[in-house]
Amino acid sequence: MWFKVIVFAVAIFGIYLLLRNKLGLNEQKKESAQNLLECEECGAYFTKDDGVRFGGKSYCSKECRDKVKG
Ligand SMILES: [Zn+2]
Repeated sequence: MWFKVIVFAVAIFGIYLLLRNKLGLNEQKKESAQNLLECEECGAYFTKDDGVRFGGKSYCSKECRDKVKG
């Protein structure tokens, strides 16, 4: 009898996790969209933490920064 209760509880918990993940992902997407920068060199989008700043502009990678540097 209690086995059915556990299965039911696990099912509810699984649905809860699914819903929470969906909501969590949406929040993360919003956050990352706000922090996205466009590379001045290749036009790629990247987050502030991944970017490289040079001469007051932001680049997606050291490679792009070096292209501008020459
Ligand atoms: Zn780039």
